[in-house]
Amino acid sequence: MNAFHIRKQVIIMNKSKIFVDETRCKGCYYCIKACPKEAVHLSGHINAKGYETVEVDEEKCIGCGSCYRMCPDYVFELR
Ligand code: SF4
Ligand code: SF4
Repeated sequence: MNAFHIRKQVIIMNKSKIFVDETRCKGCYYCIKACPKEAVHLSGHINAKGYETVEVDEEKCIGCGSCYRMCPDYVFELR
């Protein structure tokens, strides 16, 4: 997997799906601090902007939406 591999992650958040678009992430990590369940972690992947992105542990996530509301770059998308 190269450094610019684009990866998206899907979890169920209430009745919606939340998508993690790593291409948008700028590595501020507000989402990690905001998660009450410590479900957001560093992914180990570097995006095209040069930032290590985040991923969500589906087993820990309770779908509260804090990461979605906190992220300034719309990495978390509800559909
Ligand atoms: S808050 Fe958004 S931009 Fe900042 S690290 Fe988390 S996903 Fe990336
Ligand atoms: S929806 Fe809530 S519990 Fe799930 S990863 Fe985001 S902040 Fe954490």
